[in-house]
Amino acid sequence: MQGVGRLLIEWVCAIVLEEIETSLYRNKSPEELKIALATLLKKYLHLDSNSSNSAHLHEQRQKDHYSHFILRLAFARTEDLRRRFSKAEAILFKHRFESDDGSERSKFIDSLEFDWKPVSSEEKAALSQQLIATSGGKKLDDGGYFKVDWERVPDLVEQRRVYVRAGKVYVPLSLQVSLVVAEFTKKLEDALDLTARALPRLDEDDRLIPILNHLSLGFTAPEYNASSELSLLSGAPITAADVEGLSQHFPACMTHLHRTLRKAKHLKHFGRLQYGLFLKGLGLSVEEALTFWRTAFSATPSDKFDKEYRYNIRHSYGLEGQRKNYRAKSCQQILTEAPPGSGEAHGCPYRHFSPENLNAFLTQQMGVKDPPVLRGVTQDVAATKYHMACNRVFEHIHREELRKAKELSSSGGGGPPAVFETIIHPNEYFVRSWELKHPEAVGKTDVGGGAGTRRAGDRIEVDTMGGGSGGDVEMM
Ligand code: SF4
Repeated sequence: MQGVGRLLIEWVCAIVLEEIETSLYRNKSPEELKIALATLLKKYLHLDSNSSNSAHLHEQRQKDHYSHFILRLAFARTEDLRRRFSKAEAILFKHRFESDDGSERSKFIDSLEFDWKPVSSEEKAALSQQLIATSGGKKLDDGGYFKVDWERVPDLVEQRRVYVRAGKVYVPLSLQVSLVVAEFTKKLEDALDLTARALPRLDEDDRLIPILNHLSLGFTAPEYNASSELSLLSGAPITAADVEGLSQHFPACMTHLHRTLRKAKHLKHFGRLQYGLFLKGLGLSVEEALTFWRTAFSATPSDKFDKEYRYNIRHSYGLEGQRKNYRAKSCQQILTEAPPGSGEAHGCPYRHFSPENLNAFLTQQMGVKDPPVLRGVTQDVAATKYHMACNRVFEHIHREELRKAKELSSSGGGGPPAVFETIIHPNEYFVRSWELKHPEAVGKTDVGGGAGTRRAGDRIEVDTMGGGSGGDVEMM
């Protein structure tokens, strides 16, 4: 069971499916979805083509198969989950099919032995007028036509792109991808039905089922590779004084904690934990963290600070107690762990604020004044899509930079494609925000791979306000 648990976490097809769902929900264009998917697949589920002779072919396919079948188990339980899963999987399949090379595609189709009837040349000639008319007035498809039941390709029928007669659809070879995707979806739906029927016979409900439930309920956030060894480009480490300047790149949750700390000169336990680990993830060393918290708790006498707070800060850096190296909390953790009580500031504003307070917070603290954006946030929150509300705000705040990055990317100029992925971690929000505001540094410093993939030596430059000395930050 432990092995299965690890598989669920490590084989992260769920992240890819979540990105697809999110993109559909947010009406992203096919081009945007394509860019986001290409980046995610490269990062998490890269597949070399069979003809590449890559040494990793077996390992890559194994990972892909495991993640697919685990998710099939997780998403088979209800009709709604099955529908969501097959829709997202079909889009993923289409993306992969279209990006594969021609010979691999042909081999793949031959191996499936689909029951498609080729249209004879006599029938094709007899129906030429109708076939040309449905192709938008172009000539007949040289590659030939297939005849299939109309239910197999509802998308083509709906878009009136094919000729229909006596319940049969005449599909040109150029639209073959629709046929293949339709076949794939049908087989997947049948398989999901079978799995759903088999699930009750598993006869267990305290080991596998809770894991499957968890997987299908939420989305799996990748671990953010935060490190306490980051340093400034200039060689100097990130300091407590830099935090104020960096706070302009914080997401709503951390902005709220930062402002509350500044105002109240204090944060309760869970707030300190959430904010402290986030700052640790930005690269604040334990010494600087102690300075930061000591300065921020200016109304607290020194002996009380040393007695009540110093130990906890050192503990979060793995220097006390069990000496565990705690990571910054992901959105999923923040959204699902203990909600804030009276006087507490931790949690996620999109989830834990009332609609009125959230609106006021976004307007006053995050500078979001655009009514359609605020309405969109309200709708996201009502639909319990909290991280989508957060992404919506991010996209609004960085709309100019995103527009430029998109232009650069579509003109083949090598813009950072990670900026089109959905943000699922507060530290990722920070890094993405910083990168967009400093595109000149991203090219030179190679930090465009998205959170969770930082490498030693990746560097970014820091804005400083309110006493910071300025300089550069190195990200691990
Ligand atoms: Fe923070 Fe995540 Fe909530 Fe955004 S969605 S405010 S990053 S917890």
